[in-house]
Amino acid sequence: SELVVSFGEMLIDFVPTVAGVSLAEAPAFVKAPGGAPANVAIAVARLGGGAAFVGKLGDDEFGRMLAAILRDNGVDDGGVVFDAGARTALAFVTLRADGEREFMFYRNPSADMLLTHAELNVELIKRAAVFHYGSISLIAEPCRSAHLRAMEIAKEAGALLSYDPNLREALWPSREEARTKILSIWDQADIVKVSEVELEFLTGIDSVEDDVVMKLWRPTMKLLLVTLGDQGCKYYARDFRGAVPSYKVQQVDTTGAGDAFVGALLRRIVQDPSSLQDQKKLEEAIKFANACGAITATKKGAIPSLPTEVEVLKLMEMLEAWKYCDAVMLL
Ligand code: ATP
Repeated sequence: SELVVSFGEMLIDFVPTVAGVSLAEAPAFVKAPGGAPANVAIAVARLGGGAAFVGKLGDDEFGRMLAAILRDNGVDDGGVVFDAGARTALAFVTLRADGEREFMFYRNPSADMLLTHAELNVELIKRAAVFHYGSISLIAEPCRSAHLRAMEIAKEAGALLSYDPNLREALWPSREEARTKILSIWDQADIVKVSEVELEFLTGIDSVEDDVVMKLWRPTMKLLLVTLGDQGCKYYARDFRGAVPSYKVQQVDTTGAGDAFVGALLRRIVQDPSSLQDQKKLEEAIKFANACGAITATKKGAIPSLPTEVEVLKLMEMLEAWKYCDAVMLL
């Protein structure tokens, strides 16, 4: 199977209608559906791949809206359950003028945190070629146990496990708890992707040198990736390592770029799992993922920015041709 099953939270971000304001200053907000694992599932589906999402939503207008977004984008929502008593999670998010992101979460508790292991769609999870997850679902019970159980089911059924911790410090009781719990499932994953910020958070060292990244390497891993924004990413596999620069684009909003990158990479890996052992194939897959992340960074929001395969291939072709130009304006 080429199915990517993504597990975790789906929620609504409320983002200010104007850029560069604090949450308090924002005059109004618009709904922006998101949640990293849901974004990854939609990224895979948008690229033409099989994708499913497993998680819990509130049995409310917002929860039903989110499930419809999954279906409309071709994501199998057979793993979605609804909680009658809790609301769909909300997050107010702004990019302030000083470049810092400010978050305010409404999770007290939200439906996603209440998923139980008994509610898991075991048959769906067993069909996964890749089972992908983050760390937000590890924060609170009963979702934490459901998450651990789902990983076990997927692994036993032969899926590759893919982990993007997607650190949201504000959701954890403490930095130490976040670090410990994020690392508690580190050894199970076949594929791990971290950002520069997460690398520093987890190692305590502000550097992307190989010896620092290797602190996060485990012999059980098949691939470790560090994404570097417009610089592309570094990759570490058992027998080789390297870096792949991204494509030069006009950056508008990077929200979802990391999820687009992960979705695209997983899509390529399920299409040809030997990419994990073949450096040339892996670099091709990463180039494709970089292009997918780059396109997502040129548009506002996460889900509306996720490209189709044709769009990604077009960008790659166009920018390969313009390689020797310093700045390329998109569109
Ligand atoms: P997020 O910002 O979604 O939480 P992240 O920090 O993991 O995720 P980034 O490193 O910002 O993600 O981006 C992921 C990938 O997308 C990068 O490795 C790169 O390939 C591509 N990308 C992101 N921003 C740009 C950009 N401005 N120009 C070109 N490529 C980009």
